[in-house]
Amino acid sequence: MTDIESRLEELRESGLHRRLRLVEGAQGPRVLLDGRPVLLLCSNDYLGLAGHPRVREAAAAAALEWGAGAGASRLISGNMTPHRRLEQRLAAFKGYESALLFGSGYLANVGTIAALAGRGSVVFSDELNHASIVDGCRLARAETFVYRHGDAEHLDWGLRRAGGRGALIVSDGVFSMDGDTAPLGDLARLAREHGCRLMVDEAHATGALGPGGRGSVAAAGLGGEVDVVVGTLGKALGAYGAYACASAELREYLLNTARSFVFSTALPPPAVAAALASLELLEAEPARVERLRANAAALREGLRAQGLDAGGGASQIVPLELGEAGPTMALCERLLERGVFAQGIRPPTVPPGSSRIRFSAMATHEETELREAARLAGEAARELGLVPTVPLAA
Ligand SMILES: *Cc1c(COP(=O)(O)O)cnc(C)c1O
Repeated sequence: MTDIESRLEELRESGLHRRLRLVEGAQGPRVLLDGRPVLLLCSNDYLGLAGHPRVREAAAAAALEWGAGAGASRLISGNMTPHRRLEQRLAAFKGYESALLFGSGYLANVGTIAALAGRGSVVFSDELNHASIVDGCRLARAETFVYRHGDAEHLDWGLRRAGGRGALIVSDGVFSMDGDTAPLGDLARLAREHGCRLMVDEAHATGALGPGGRGSVAAAGLGGEVDVVVGTLGKALGAYGAYACASAELREYLLNTARSFVFSTALPPPAVAAALASLELLEAEPARVERLRANAAALREGLRAQGLDAGGGASQIVPLELGEAGPTMALCERLLERGVFAQGIRPPTVPPGSSRIRFSAMATHEETELREAARLAGEAARELGLVPTVPLAA
């Protein structure tokens, strides 16, 4: 057995082996999965914009006008009008002076954290932050203090202990696998008290939280106090790429020092144009955000009525924590048999012992189909002996 074979075998034996499933057609509330029709409950295309006709047309038109690729990094020859236009619109939407596009949310986090913290300084990171933040901290070569999830007291303790070496506090706004929200008011206060910068990742908050979907920072009324707001164009905005919103000075600094910006090709014009069209739709039709919230609430209520613990959050991300990987994947398969696709999430995406089904609602689902999916989840979970056998409410 080669070392690769034995490592793959290890993954299979521990229930952590993953495989790709094939979705046919565009993302939508219902898709064909490996050839079978299913209700899609694990897409981050929360507002249903990835397949929106105006967004598709914008991408197609940009491909015809600007070409398929940008050809180089922005600093060499890849900077085009669509990039500049989208940055201006994103900054205005988020209430910031400026924005800088990155190739993806992963690249935005890795580049921004490493630019803002270096050897000898300390980054403070929530224990449930996204993997791209974890990797950003590693790449920064700063010391990383991982504070307990959402625990401002623990963070405060860490900041005191760092004694002035603190450079950056970084947190997801809405946590990607739990759907709960960071205590942003506390983070902003602590950043101020300790002279640290604050960075918030709005990957799951943009398009979902705050007035008109402006995100968790706007929801908390903290626009002026968060130094960098990072977000992706690949989730609610239905395209691909990412951005960092900041002051003009900080943007200029990132543009010069964030290695994932400097050394990577600019976003392809069709992705940029698609994101811009999505942003315009979001601004013109804020009712999409309301529908997403109502759908998330319906899904949560439906699961609770089945006696299932849907976590403490209130966002469109609705976790059903089951513990071990085995039962989690068994429930995922039972749900698939019933025509519901919600992915089982296992380590290292979540901490060991906290495997879960991560449901995510979309604005384009019907409330009735979400309630039915919740009922099916209850039925399948009881079949597997995973919850009380009697629903708490009908
Ligand atoms: C998805 C995600 C990212 C990565 O964004 P991509 O554009 O998909 O690379 C970063 N942060 C969080 C919290 C995410 O959920």
